[in-house]
Amino acid sequence: MAKVKDIVRHLESIAPPSLQESYDNASLITGSASMEVKGVLITLDCIESVIDEAIERDCNMIVAHHPIVFRGLKQLNGKNYVERTIIQAIKNDIAIYAIHTNLDNVISGVNRKICEKLGLENVKILAPKKGTLQKLVTFIPVADSDEVIASMHQAGAGNIGNYSDCSFRVTGTGYFKPNQDANPTIGTSGELEEVEENRVEVVYPKHLQGQVLNALKSAHPYEEVAYYISDLENSNQEVGSGMIGDLPIEMTANEFLYYLKDKMDLNTIRYTEKDQPKIKKVAVCGGAGSFLLGRAKSRRADAFVTADFKYHEFFDAEGQIMIADIGHYESEIFTKELLHSFLTEKFANIATCLSRVDTNPVKYF
Ligand SMILES: [Zn+2]
Repeated sequence: MAKVKDIVRHLESIAPPSLQESYDNASLITGSASMEVKGVLITLDCIESVIDEAIERDCNMIVAHHPIVFRGLKQLNGKNYVERTIIQAIKNDIAIYAIHTNLDNVISGVNRKICEKLGLENVKILAPKKGTLQKLVTFIPVADSDEVIASMHQAGAGNIGNYSDCSFRVTGTGYFKPNQDANPTIGTSGELEEVEENRVEVVYPKHLQGQVLNALKSAHPYEEVAYYISDLENSNQEVGSGMIGDLPIEMTANEFLYYLKDKMDLNTIRYTEKDQPKIKKVAVCGGAGSFLLGRAKSRRADAFVTADFKYHEFFDAEGQIMIADIGHYESEIFTKELLHSFLTEKFANIATCLSRVDTNPVKYF
């Protein structure tokens, strides 16, 4: 039977927790990692009525997009909905796991799902993140290079955009002198050795450092493996906020509004008018996305589909882009389907259900 930690490990292989924003609390919030999972309930928000639903549907794990707890709790006496939800989860042995901005920031996450719903093509990350890539340089005897490099690739090194197995190598001469305590694969203690080696370079996402190093060390023939690791300034095209892509056909602003309503199942859109009414390139950001307006404009998006725009922020569109504020809940609701597909592809024998509770606190009249 799968345990909570198996579910968490699988989801975090898709959206590593190190990619979450600093204010976030994507993590296992209640429950033990070693609990056996009877069933998983997937929700956008984990509130009291969702705990009730989990009990009723015999699910002892809830996978939520938004963490119920963001900051430290100093008391747990049930005076607000956050405390009551946590108390109820603990009393009923329910694990709550949240996968939030880490799932927003990966290329296969929340925004990819919105792009899919809108049928966008040529999709890319709207604001790629810096500081998430590393480069490793190492020195491998020529005869062992293929095997060691293959092992690092298997650990996740060497993927750049649509290319896998990327590395660079140049052949030279390595020199070393083993001391009396050394047990060299090549060479003799006290004598300077000279070996034909490849200098090999690979890049990988920072969070894979441990497994790439393990792969290097376990496949490398030397007792002491020489390597350097450096943090890269490059943006990571696979990680960041929002996404951008093209509609299959150009639309008028009006056609696009109807299309958006239909594809995202909306009642209401708050939008700005655009001077040029044609819409082809569309930026998206699930949840609060006004911080990306400048980026959407500079990448020449015709429309920006997101949520939580404030009145004054709408003016910043300046007729150059259609801001389409579709509502926070509405923009992220399909994340439930996304999490469902991640779980069912890996855990075919665990009951995985979508919450039926409408957790949207905002009502329209
Ligand atoms: Zn959200």
